[in-house]
Formats: sequence, structure tokens, C-alpha cells
Amino acid sequence: MKLKELGEFGLIDRIKSGIHIPDGITGIGDDCAVIPCHNGKDLLVSTDMLIEGTHFLMDDITPYRLGWKSAAANLSDIAAMGGRPAATFLSFALPDSLDSDWTDEFFKGYNDISRRYHCPLLGGDTCVSRDRLSISVTILGECPAGTALLRSGAQDGDKICVTGYLGDAGGGLKVILDGAHRNSDAQALIAMHYMPIPRVEEGLKLGITDGIHAMMDISDGIGSDLRHILKASHKGAEVNVASLPLSDELLRTCRRNGWDPVELAISGGEDYELLFTAAPDAKIEVPHTVIGSINNSGRLVWLGTERDFGGYHHF
Ligand code: ADP
Ligand code: MG
Repeated sequence: MKLKELGEFGLIDRIKSGIHIPDGITGIGDDCAVIPCHNGKDLLVSTDMLIEGTHFLMDDITPYRLGWKSAAANLSDIAAMGGRPAATFLSFALPDSLDSDWTDEFFKGYNDISRRYHCPLLGGDTCVSRDRLSISVTILGECPAGTALLRSGAQDGDKICVTGYLGDAGGGLKVILDGAHRNSDAQALIAMHYMPIPRVEEGLKLGITDGIHAMMDISDGIGSDLRHILKASHKGAEVNVASLPLSDELLRTCRRNGWDPVELAISGGEDYELLFTAAPDAKIEVPHTVIGSINNSGRLVWLGTERDFGGYHHF
């Protein structure tokens, strides 16, 4: 079957079907693999790639921002489990047209965000690429044994919550791709696209909050990502489109350019906010917005719109 027909997640299911994952280990299908260490802690591991032309445009992104984003996307996957980041490993294939000023700036950005979360770079691999730049980061983290928040824990009656705003990063990408006017609102959206802030502190707090049942980070838009929670938990959901948190910068930029902010909030990628489900009486101390509820219907219904929304898919 052509990969385009199979889709990114069809291929991942196919890979998973050929692998025996031992009992007690969570692998393939969540934000991180969870491996018991038998010392009261679980090891969390995730890996992510960034490819020139697919995930970023070399002419637009600065090396500092690319370094930042490479680490941020991985830190977000540890946050998504309620875990604490520990270390990263970075491999890249570099076109030989680049110079050491470029790599210095890249590592300034990479190290600035890594320092913020006490998550040093401890190794990697470096080789030359004939044309495009590709970057692969692997991150390790930890959490108390058995506490990782998986995608599979959502329960009937849970409220569906998100941190921060949705759609800003997608709006920033649209400004770049459409060549829209870059006023201060548009610049703020572009910064959200290139320099996301992973919700590590929030994830850690949610990890020790009673009644949080499922969590993931939003990398492909809730239209796609909420479906992962529903599929893993065998549940359905209703989402109230009017309650989606939209920033003023996004609303003004959409008004100016005739774009639909709801479409960007649902289908735009790379917000790196946390999407989680919580018991109705859970005491959540992290700023968040309730956008809907979990049910047993097995279907995802968008209340307040006739449209069906997907997410961002890579192929
Ligand atoms: P995320 O957006 O959280 O980084 P992805 O959507 O990239 O997660 O991947 C979904 C799941 O599939 C993850 O658990 C990831 O580890 C797994 N996965 C993706 N590609 C592969 C692969 N080539 N081999 C094994 N597992 C994979
Ligand atoms: Mg993720």
C-alpha cells in the first residue's frame, strides 16, 4: 500500500503490530515510552525529527530558533506524561554549506531552553548531508513509578481541558507560508511557531493531581490529537467550539487576513499545549480551559459547527 493511503498513523499501527512489547512497558502510541526502572521510578523516552522543507524553512527560521524548537518539541513529550526531563541526545545531518557561526547560534537556542528545564545535551551523532538539514532529538525523563499520564486513561464524564491558547503556532505558520503582513500580532504568532514553551511545570503539577486520567501534548492540533486519546481510551467526546481558547493576536490576525481562527485552533499543528481529561471534581491548579467532555459514544462531535475537523498530518 502507498504510504499516502496508509497515512502516518496507519504506518505506526503497522509497525506496532509486528512488535512484542513486554508486559509492564508502554511503547509506540503514547508521547513517550514508559519503562519501569524497579527503583520506584519509570524511565520516559521519546524521539522526534525535524526535516528542512517539511518542518521548517531554512530561509525563514534563525538557527537560534531552530535549536530552541528542536529541544522544545521533545521537552513537550516529557511534559505530556507528567514527567521530569533528564537529558537529550541530538543527531543531525548538516549540509556542508553551513558554518560554525550557524551551529553556535543553533546550540545557543538549544541550550537556553534545555537549561531552563535542567535537561542537558549528553550525546548525539553528527554527519554531513548532501542537501537538506535533518535533526533528530531523543529525550529521556522520569516520573514516580506508575504515575505517567497515558492517552488511554480517559473516563466517561471527564472534562476535556487544554492549557494556554490554541492555534497561535498554526497562525504563525500560515503567516509565513501565505507571506501575510508581519505586524506585531503576526510576529507574536510566528514566535509561538518557532519558539514554543513546553508545559513542563504544568505537566509535573498535573502528574501529581488526583483525578487527571489522560494526557498528551498537542502537536498536530486537537482535531487529530483528541482522537488519539479517544482511540486509546475507547471513548467518545463532545467539544464546544465556542469555548476553544483563542488569543487576541490570533483573532486580530485572522480578521485582518480573512482566516478562520477555529480552523487554526483545531487543525493547526505545533501548539505544544497540554490536552488532558479530568474527573469533574478534580482540583486542577494549572491554568486551563474546559473545552468539552468525554462520553461512551465512540464518536467525536464538534458542538456549534457543521464542519468535521481533522489535524495536521505529515503524509
Ligand atoms: P508525538 O507527536 O507525541 O511525538 P507521534 O505522533 O510522532 O508522537 O508518534 C506517535 C507514536 O508512534 C509515538 O509513541 C512514537 O514513538 C511512535 N512512532 C512513531 N514513528 C515510529 C517508528 N518509526 N517506529 C516506532 N514507533 C514510532
Ligand atoms: Mg506528543
